Amino acid sequence: MPRTPILALIALAAVPLGAQNAPAHHAPKPPKTLRLYIFDCGVLKPEDAKSFGFDHVAELKMSVPCFLVAHPKGTMMWDVGVVPDSDVKEDGTPPQGFIQVTRRLKPQLEALGYEPEDIKYLAFSHYHIDHTANANMFASSTWLVEQAERDIMFSDKPAPVRTEKNFSALKDSKTKIIPADADYDVFGDGTVIIKPAQGHTPGHQVLFLKLKKTGPVLVAGDLYHYNEERNTDHVPNFEFNKEQSLASRAKIEEFLKTSGAQLWIEHDYAANAKLKKSPAYYE
Ligand SMILES: [Zn+2]
Repeated sequence: MPRTPILALIALAAVPLGAQNAPAHHAPKPPKTLRLYIFDCGVLKPEDAKSFGFDHVAELKMSVPCFLVAHPKGTMMWDVGVVPDSDVKEDGTPPQGFIQVTRRLKPQLEALGYEPEDIKYLAFSHYHIDHTANANMFASSTWLVEQAERDIMFSDKPAPVRTEKNFSALKDSKTKIIPADADYDVFGDGTVIIKPAQGHTPGHQVLFLKLKKTGPVLVAGDLYHYNEERNTDHVPNFEFNKEQSLASRAKIEEFLKTSGAQLWIEHDYAANAKLKKSPAYYE
Protein backbone atom coordinates (compact mmCIF):
# COMPACT_ATOMS: atom_id res chain seq x y z
CA MET A 1 0.00 0.00 0.00
CA PRO A 2 1.55 3.35 -1.01
CA ARG A 3 2.29 5.65 1.88
CA THR A 4 1.45 9.34 1.72
CA PRO A 5 4.77 11.19 1.68
CA ILE A 6 5.23 12.83 5.04
CA LEU A 7 6.02 16.20 3.38
CA ALA A 8 2.63 16.23 1.66
CA LEU A 9 0.92 15.66 4.99
CA ILE A 10 2.82 18.53 6.57
CA ALA A 11 1.90 20.77 3.63
CA LEU A 12 -1.76 19.84 4.03
CA ALA A 13 -1.68 20.53 7.74
CA ALA A 14 -0.16 23.95 7.09
CA VAL A 15 -3.20 25.16 5.11
CA PRO A 16 -5.27 27.23 7.53
CA LEU A 17 -8.69 25.80 8.21
CA GLY A 18 -10.37 29.02 7.21
CA ALA A 19 -8.78 28.90 3.76
CA GLN A 20 -9.96 25.33 3.24
CA ASN A 21 -13.50 26.18 4.17
CA ALA A 22 -13.81 29.66 2.67
CA PRO A 23 -16.27 29.51 -0.22
CA ALA A 24 -14.87 30.82 -3.50
CA HIS A 25 -16.13 34.33 -4.15
CA HIS A 26 -18.45 34.73 -7.10
CA ALA A 27 -19.34 38.15 -8.39
CA PRO A 28 -23.07 38.76 -8.79
CA LYS A 29 -24.57 37.74 -12.11
CA PRO A 30 -24.51 40.66 -14.56
CA PRO A 31 -27.89 42.39 -14.76
CA LYS A 32 -29.95 41.98 -17.95
CA THR A 33 -30.12 45.73 -18.40
CA LEU A 34 -27.97 48.65 -17.26
CA ARG A 35 -28.10 49.63 -13.58
CA LEU A 36 -26.67 52.53 -11.63
CA TYR A 37 -26.00 52.30 -7.89
CA ILE A 38 -25.18 55.35 -5.76
CA PHE A 39 -23.07 54.99 -2.61
CA ASP A 40 -22.71 57.46 0.25
CA CYS A 41 -19.08 58.55 0.23
CA GLY A 42 -19.50 61.54 2.53
CA VAL A 43 -20.24 65.23 2.81
CA LEU A 44 -18.11 68.37 2.46
CA LYS A 45 -18.91 71.36 4.62
CA PRO A 46 -17.20 74.45 3.26
CA GLU A 47 -17.39 77.58 5.44
CA ASP A 48 -18.55 79.66 2.51
CA ALA A 49 -18.90 79.53 -1.28
CA LYS A 50 -16.42 82.32 -1.99
CA SER A 51 -13.91 80.08 -3.75
CA PHE A 52 -16.75 79.19 -6.14
CA GLY A 53 -17.53 82.84 -6.81
CA PHE A 54 -20.62 83.23 -4.60
CA ASP A 55 -21.42 85.21 -1.45
CA HIS A 56 -24.45 83.05 -0.90
CA VAL A 57 -25.78 79.71 -2.11
CA ALA A 58 -29.01 77.95 -1.11
CA GLU A 59 -27.15 74.96 0.37
CA LEU A 60 -23.49 75.21 1.31
CA LYS A 61 -22.98 71.50 2.08
CA MET A 62 -21.74 69.27 -0.73
CA SER A 63 -22.55 65.61 -1.22
CA VAL A 64 -19.82 63.15 -2.21
CA PRO A 65 -21.44 60.23 -4.02
CA CYS A 66 -19.64 57.22 -5.52
CA PHE A 67 -21.23 55.34 -8.40
CA LEU A 68 -21.30 51.74 -9.56
CA VAL A 69 -22.37 51.10 -13.13
CA ALA A 70 -23.50 47.50 -13.62
CA HIS A 71 -23.83 46.61 -17.31
CA PRO A 72 -24.60 43.19 -18.85
CA LYS A 73 -20.99 43.16 -20.10
CA GLY A 74 -19.26 44.30 -16.90
CA THR A 75 -18.96 46.86 -14.15
CA MET A 76 -17.44 50.30 -13.75
CA MET A 77 -16.80 52.48 -10.72
CA TRP A 78 -17.18 56.20 -11.28
CA ASP A 79 -15.62 58.45 -8.59
CA VAL A 80 -14.45 56.74 -5.42
CA GLY A 81 -14.78 59.10 -2.48
CA VAL A 82 -12.94 61.74 -0.46
CA VAL A 83 -11.42 59.65 2.38
CA PRO A 84 -9.76 56.25 1.88
CA ASP A 85 -11.62 53.46 3.70
CA SER A 86 -8.61 52.87 5.95
CA ASP A 87 -9.05 56.39 7.40
CA VAL A 88 -12.82 56.19 7.94
CA LYS A 89 -13.96 55.62 11.52
CA GLU A 90 -17.16 53.64 11.71
CA ASP A 91 -17.50 53.80 15.49
CA GLY A 92 -20.41 56.23 15.51
CA THR A 93 -18.32 59.27 16.50
CA PRO A 94 -20.03 62.25 14.89
CA PRO A 95 -17.73 63.50 12.15
CA GLN A 96 -16.30 66.99 12.43
CA GLY A 97 -14.61 69.48 10.18
CA PHE A 98 -14.73 70.20 6.46
CA ILE A 99 -14.71 66.54 5.33
CA GLN A 100 -17.26 64.25 6.95
CA VAL A 101 -17.32 60.58 6.01
CA THR A 102 -19.15 57.99 8.09
CA ARG A 103 -19.31 55.04 5.70
CA ARG A 104 -16.60 53.03 4.00
CA LEU A 105 -16.94 52.31 0.30
CA LYS A 106 -15.88 48.62 0.29
CA PRO A 107 -18.66 47.38 2.62
CA GLN A 108 -21.19 49.24 0.48
CA LEU A 109 -19.91 47.34 -2.57
CA GLU A 110 -19.83 44.06 -0.66
CA ALA A 111 -23.43 44.53 0.45
CA LEU A 112 -24.28 44.07 -3.24
CA GLY A 113 -22.01 41.02 -3.50
CA TYR A 114 -19.12 42.75 -5.31
CA GLU A 115 -15.48 42.78 -4.28
CA PRO A 116 -13.21 45.52 -5.68
CA GLU A 117 -11.54 42.82 -7.86
CA ASP A 118 -14.88 42.26 -9.62
CA ILE A 119 -14.90 45.79 -11.01
CA LYS A 120 -13.90 45.78 -14.68
CA TYR A 121 -13.35 49.49 -15.27
CA LEU A 122 -12.41 52.45 -13.09
CA ALA A 123 -13.01 56.04 -14.16
CA PHE A 124 -13.09 59.39 -12.37
CA SER A 125 -14.61 62.65 -13.39
CA HIS A 126 -11.17 64.04 -12.41
CA TYR A 127 -8.19 63.47 -10.12
CA HIS A 128 -9.10 65.80 -7.19
CA ILE A 129 -8.99 64.25 -3.70
CA ASP A 130 -12.78 64.14 -3.31
CA HIS A 131 -13.15 61.85 -6.36
CA THR A 132 -10.17 59.49 -6.08
CA ALA A 133 -9.67 58.62 -2.38
CA ASN A 134 -10.17 54.86 -2.82
CA ALA A 135 -8.52 54.57 -6.24
CA ASN A 136 -5.87 52.12 -5.00
CA MET A 137 -8.65 49.69 -4.08
CA PHE A 138 -9.39 49.30 -7.80
CA ALA A 139 -5.83 48.90 -9.07
CA SER A 140 -6.79 45.59 -10.72
CA SER A 141 -9.50 47.28 -12.83
CA THR A 142 -8.79 48.80 -16.22
CA TRP A 143 -8.44 52.55 -15.71
CA LEU A 144 -10.15 54.78 -18.28
CA VAL A 145 -8.47 58.19 -18.36
CA GLU A 146 -7.43 60.98 -20.70
CA GLN A 147 -3.71 61.36 -21.24
CA ALA A 148 -3.61 64.94 -19.89
CA GLU A 149 -5.33 63.88 -16.68
CA ARG A 150 -2.97 60.96 -16.12
CA ASP A 151 -0.04 63.27 -16.83
CA ILE A 152 -1.00 65.82 -14.17
CA MET A 153 -1.70 63.05 -11.63
CA PHE A 154 1.84 61.72 -11.86
CA SER A 155 3.60 64.98 -12.72
CA ASP A 156 6.57 66.19 -10.60
CA LYS A 157 5.13 69.70 -10.63
CA PRO A 158 2.65 70.77 -7.94
CA ALA A 159 -1.04 70.41 -8.79
CA PRO A 160 -4.03 71.64 -6.78
CA VAL A 161 -6.21 69.31 -4.67
CA ARG A 162 -4.02 66.29 -5.48
CA THR A 163 -3.26 63.47 -3.02
CA GLU A 164 -0.92 61.16 -4.89
CA LYS A 165 -0.77 58.43 -2.25
CA ASN A 166 -4.47 57.72 -2.72
CA PHE A 167 -4.02 56.74 -6.38
CA SER A 168 -0.34 55.76 -6.52
CA ALA A 169 -1.18 52.10 -7.36
CA LEU A 170 -2.82 53.18 -10.63
CA LYS A 171 0.61 53.94 -12.06
CA ASP A 172 0.93 50.22 -12.82
CA SER A 173 -2.75 49.55 -13.56
CA LYS A 174 -3.94 48.37 -16.92
CA THR A 175 -4.76 51.75 -18.45
CA LYS A 176 -6.85 52.71 -21.44
CA ILE A 177 -6.15 56.23 -22.65
CA ILE A 178 -9.44 57.58 -23.94
CA PRO A 179 -9.91 60.41 -26.45
CA ALA A 180 -9.72 64.04 -25.32
CA ASP A 181 -11.89 65.21 -28.22
CA ALA A 182 -14.49 62.46 -28.67
CA ASP A 183 -16.96 60.39 -26.68
CA TYR A 184 -15.82 57.01 -25.35
CA ASP A 185 -18.38 54.20 -25.46
CA VAL A 186 -17.36 51.99 -22.52
CA PHE A 187 -19.31 48.82 -23.35
CA GLY A 188 -19.79 49.43 -27.07
CA ASP A 189 -23.59 49.66 -27.07
CA GLY A 190 -24.13 53.37 -26.51
CA THR A 191 -25.51 53.03 -22.97
CA VAL A 192 -22.42 54.12 -20.98
CA ILE A 193 -20.53 57.01 -22.53
CA ILE A 194 -17.67 59.04 -21.08
CA LYS A 195 -17.68 62.55 -22.54
CA PRO A 196 -14.71 64.91 -22.36
CA ALA A 197 -15.47 68.13 -20.45
CA GLN A 198 -12.07 69.64 -19.70
CA GLY A 199 -11.37 72.81 -17.75
CA HIS A 200 -11.87 72.01 -14.08
CA THR A 201 -8.84 69.77 -14.60
CA PRO A 202 -6.91 69.01 -17.83
CA GLY A 203 -8.85 65.82 -18.49
CA HIS A 204 -12.12 66.36 -16.61
CA GLN A 205 -14.92 64.17 -17.97
CA VAL A 206 -18.62 63.46 -17.43
CA LEU A 207 -20.67 60.27 -17.62
CA PHE A 208 -23.72 59.79 -19.82
CA LEU A 209 -25.99 56.82 -19.12
CA LYS A 210 -28.92 55.57 -21.15
CA LEU A 211 -31.09 53.94 -18.50
CA LYS A 212 -34.16 52.06 -19.76
CA LYS A 213 -36.67 53.09 -17.10
CA THR A 214 -35.07 56.26 -15.73
CA GLY A 215 -34.16 57.67 -19.11
CA PRO A 216 -30.91 59.42 -20.01
CA VAL A 217 -28.80 60.80 -17.15
CA LEU A 218 -25.65 62.90 -17.19
CA VAL A 219 -23.46 62.47 -14.10
CA ALA A 220 -21.59 65.73 -14.32
CA GLY A 221 -18.52 65.36 -12.09
CA ASP A 222 -17.44 68.88 -11.15
CA LEU A 223 -18.61 70.58 -14.32
CA TYR A 224 -20.64 72.42 -11.68
CA HIS A 225 -20.41 72.23 -7.89
CA TYR A 226 -23.49 74.26 -7.02
CA ASN A 227 -26.60 74.53 -9.15
CA GLU A 228 -26.20 78.33 -8.88
CA GLU A 229 -23.21 78.10 -11.25
CA ARG A 230 -25.44 77.18 -14.19
CA ASN A 231 -25.97 80.04 -16.63
CA THR A 232 -23.24 82.14 -15.02
CA ASP A 233 -19.52 82.51 -15.72
CA HIS A 234 -18.65 81.68 -12.10
CA VAL A 235 -16.07 78.92 -11.86
CA PRO A 236 -13.99 77.85 -8.85
CA ASN A 237 -10.84 79.87 -8.18
CA PHE A 238 -8.80 76.64 -8.43
CA GLU A 239 -9.95 75.89 -11.98
CA PHE A 240 -7.26 74.54 -14.32
CA ASN A 241 -8.58 76.55 -17.29
CA LYS A 242 -11.60 78.82 -16.91
CA GLU A 243 -12.20 79.35 -20.65
CA GLN A 244 -12.08 75.62 -21.24
CA SER A 245 -14.56 75.07 -18.39
CA LEU A 246 -17.04 77.57 -19.81
CA ALA A 247 -16.71 76.01 -23.27
CA SER A 248 -17.28 72.53 -21.79
CA ARG A 249 -20.33 73.76 -19.90
CA ALA A 250 -21.79 75.28 -23.08
CA LYS A 251 -21.18 72.03 -24.97
CA ILE A 252 -22.74 69.88 -22.24
CA GLU A 253 -25.76 72.20 -21.81
CA GLU A 254 -26.34 71.84 -25.56
CA PHE A 255 -26.05 68.06 -25.21
CA LEU A 256 -28.60 68.07 -22.36
CA LYS A 257 -31.06 69.78 -24.71
CA THR A 258 -30.54 67.39 -27.62
CA SER A 259 -30.40 64.21 -25.48
CA GLY A 260 -33.08 65.18 -22.97
CA ALA A 261 -30.78 63.91 -20.21
CA GLN A 262 -31.23 64.84 -16.55
CA LEU A 263 -28.23 66.69 -15.12
CA TRP A 264 -26.90 65.24 -11.88
CA ILE A 265 -24.43 67.59 -10.20
CA GLU A 266 -22.51 65.27 -7.90
CA HIS A 267 -21.89 67.85 -5.14
CA ASP A 268 -25.47 69.21 -5.23
CA TYR A 269 -26.44 68.17 -1.70
CA ALA A 270 -30.18 68.77 -1.97
CA ALA A 271 -30.47 67.01 -5.33
CA ASN A 272 -28.30 64.10 -4.22
CA ALA A 273 -30.34 63.67 -1.05
CA LYS A 274 -33.38 62.91 -3.20
CA LEU A 275 -31.64 60.17 -5.23
CA LYS A 276 -32.06 56.48 -4.39
CA LYS A 277 -29.05 55.02 -2.61
CA SER A 278 -27.65 51.50 -2.91
CA PRO A 279 -28.92 48.77 -2.57
CA ALA A 280 -31.71 50.53 -4.49
CA TYR A 281 -30.69 51.39 -8.04
CA TYR A 282 -31.64 53.21 -11.21
CA GLU A 283 -32.27 51.13 -14.31
ZN1 LIG B 1 -15.33 67.58 -6.34
